[in-house]
Amino acid sequence: MALVNSTEMFKKAYEGGYAVGAFNVNNMEIIQGIVSAAQEENAPLILQVSAGARKYASPIYLKKLVEAAIEETGLDIVLHLDHGEDFEICKACIDDGFSSVMIDGSKYPLDENIALTKRVVEYAHDRGVTVEAELGKLAGVEDDVKVSAKDATYTDPDEAVEFVERTGVDSLAIAIGTSHGAYKFKGDPKLDFARLETISAKLPNYPLVLHGASSVPQEFVELCNKYGAQIPGAQGVPEEMLRQAAHSGVCKINIDTDLRLALTASIRKTFTENPGEFDPRKYLGPGRDAIKKMVQHKIKNVLGCSGKR
Ligand SMILES: [Zn+2]
Repeated sequence: MALVNSTEMFKKAYEGGYAVGAFNVNNMEIIQGIVSAAQEENAPLILQVSAGARKYASPIYLKKLVEAAIEETGLDIVLHLDHGEDFEICKACIDDGFSSVMIDGSKYPLDENIALTKRVVEYAHDRGVTVEAELGKLAGVEDDVKVSAKDATYTDPDEAVEFVERTGVDSLAIAIGTSHGAYKFKGDPKLDFARLETISAKLPNYPLVLHGASSVPQEFVELCNKYGAQIPGAQGVPEEMLRQAAHSGVCKINIDTDLRLALTASIRKTFTENPGEFDPRKYLGPGRDAIKKMVQHKIKNVLGCSGKR
């Protein structure tokens, strides 16, 4: 039981044809819900913190909560920075004891992205920390990361090979049509699987990462709306597509929006049924249970990593 980097986890995932869930965390209830699902499913686990979450909760609180989870459950957990935007934030997280960081230089031209990523990789590897980078741009909004549909670009397979060779980065987030946030597709979801397979074939035994892959927010969207929200109908990435991706080199699938929807739907339900409730435990407790249920579903039916610890 320890805070571990992603090396062994991804090696086993690649060989086993499954993906590890990387869940975004902001507070104690979210961490507890996710961790107790992973414990029950005996699943490998990545907990990730965005720059926004660091600002909200302060890194030391999140780190100590994750340490508490490790101590209580005996799980190995990767503590990962999601979408680090510059060298400084990656360095700060590494110095704080994170076991993995993402440097997102996807908004820069290739050479600049490579130089930035390489700098983070050198600092991280000297300290036993693994690094994820991103090539290609996802549409959508995630905390401070905003990209309009017209600025989104898919990952070029040959650039991906060059990028990995020149940076030595441990895993690569690619853009194949998924997008950040709850509202993904107007019509049928289109994921460019041919592109994924080409990239995967050119980078054998190399772990790829999918962002923007919330799959079934519909149930939670409906629940939110039933209890007074006005969230337009969302269509996520179909679960069978994510299962297929896990067989094509995708070792990490990020999950954030689904957690938000599950927690919010549950809290709305409590307040609708009992408008006078003012004990935080009475609405955060059921919210934690909703997160656990959703994460268990993901582990069993989407990621395929149940029992793979
Ligand atoms: Zn992302």
